[in-house]
Amino acid sequence: MTTTHHLNEQMLLGYSAGVLPEAFNLVVASHLCLSDDARAMQCCYDALGGAVLNKCEKEKMSLNALSLTLQQIKTCPCDTQAPQICTGIFPEPLQKYVGDKPEALRWRSLGKGVRQAIIPTAKGATVRLLFVPAGQSVPDHGHRGTELTLVLQGVYVDHGNRYGRGDIEIATPKTTHHPIAETGQDCICLTATDAPLRFSRMLHRLLARLLRL
Ligand code: ZN
Repeated sequence: MTTTHHLNEQMLLGYSAGVLPEAFNLVVASHLCLSDDARAMQCCYDALGGAVLNKCEKEKMSLNALSLTLQQIKTCPCDTQAPQICTGIFPEPLQKYVGDKPEALRWRSLGKGVRQAIIPTAKGATVRLLFVPAGQSVPDHGHRGTELTLVLQGVYVDHGNRYGRGDIEIATPKTTHHPIAETGQDCICLTATDAPLRFSRMLHRLLARLLRL
């Protein structure tokens, strides 16, 4: 699938090196299922990482290091195996966390029809599904860290850019934005953040605390 807005090198390298928080890993793995370009780039970074490892000094390891590593790989829900072709709304890595039916999730209202479903992951960052009705907007906000937003259904517009299925937007502490879902289809996004958002309006600030935004 061809996408317009991709992850940056830093995120893809972090994913290949396995240093991203679980929440970010989930967004990256889901993006890779939906973007041919990103998948090709990530294969290059994996190969690069392998070449670097081959050049590293050898380290003495415990006798059970291999079996422990294999066990960790087996039990990690967000593995880094080659992504499967995605046919439903939710890419395969996301299905491992929430199943494949948006209507079966426990959505929590954020007002004006906007809903979220937080996905439990390890500490360090949080990830949620965001449902924005067609034509509706997300309150304008800033960021204290990095925010990754992957579109799974519908289209939203932000600062004049259109983000459709498979596209990813990266927001930083320099970004203030006000994404608006286009009319025609409700928008569903997968969003990860590693720090709370900043809201200018008092009501939104209070809600943000309650809703872990
Ligand atoms: Zn944002």
